[in-house]
Amino acid sequence: MKDLKLGARSSADSQPTVITIGNIRIGIDFVIIAGPCSVESEKQTILTAQKVKEAGADMLRGGAFKPRTSPYAFQGLGLEGLKILEKAKKETGLPIVSEVIDPRDVSWVSEYVDILQIGARNMQNFSLLREVGRGRKPVLLKRGMYSTLTEWLNCAEYILAEGNPNVILCERGIRTFETYTRNTLDLSMVPAVKEVSHLPIIVDPSHGTGKLSLIEPMCMAAVAAGTDGLIVEVHHNPAEALSDKDQTLDPESFANIAKKINKLRTFLKELNTHPVSIPTGDERGKTKIPGESLFN
Ligand code: PEP
Ligand code: MN
Repeated sequence: MKDLKLGARSSADSQPTVITIGNIRIGIDFVIIAGPCSVESEKQTILTAQKVKEAGADMLRGGAFKPRTSPYAFQGLGLEGLKILEKAKKETGLPIVSEVIDPRDVSWVSEYVDILQIGARNMQNFSLLREVGRGRKPVLLKRGMYSTLTEWLNCAEYILAEGNPNVILCERGIRTFETYTRNTLDLSMVPAVKEVSHLPIIVDPSHGTGKLSLIEPMCMAAVAAGTDGLIVEVHHNPAEALSDKDQTLDPESFANIAKKINKLRTFLKELNTHPVSIPTGDERGKTKIPGESLFN
């Protein structure tokens, strides 16, 4: 990790970064972020927020600015969407995660949200990274769909280098030759990030699979892999969702998954899982620079 001055884990026992939002300590406590792909209306957002809270979510997600493939698709409600999220927070107490897509919007969007999301399509938007780095608002940095671990961590480094230490990584799947799923969710990144960085990492099985039936198993697998949290799309009536309806859970299915996650976490604690330890001096145990390991 020679280029990472701030994001690299310096030693096997170095302390992980902890980001505190209200009473949630990301990096220590397990965090579940849930909510609609897009903020569509006050009724939709508040109803969904209440349902995900009841089911055990810790934070509310919802896009007010949507980076869509087509310029003619619903682009989000912008400021109106952020005001709706603010109301949903007042109603439920859930902190807000929402995406920012333009460096010029960072400072005012920061007033409405608890975590600024940088989407996969903007992972290498260096002016956006620098701008969120100049503030202190926690940033959820999604992995770009064509990005290696090294590229992703270097993008986190752009934020850290500007002075903002509050970066959370999010694995959301990458493009491969597979077409059955929307993306290939790369869960190996969870232990890999923990091996080389002190930053927390969460997993997005909604965009990571694009398929309702795969969300529960991928949530469970991510938990078993050691993720610090999950972000999932939930809508009070998915059939009506204006974006990503095919991967959006209804509140009841989300509640069932949340219960199973809790059970699995209890089981894993009993199991006391930890990474395979490799004896000192064993060459196989050397941390390799991501990317280099491809050629070994
Ligand atoms: C999202 O979470 O709303 C989103 C657009 O995700 P991604 O950037 O991972 O595609
Ligand atoms: Mn979405």
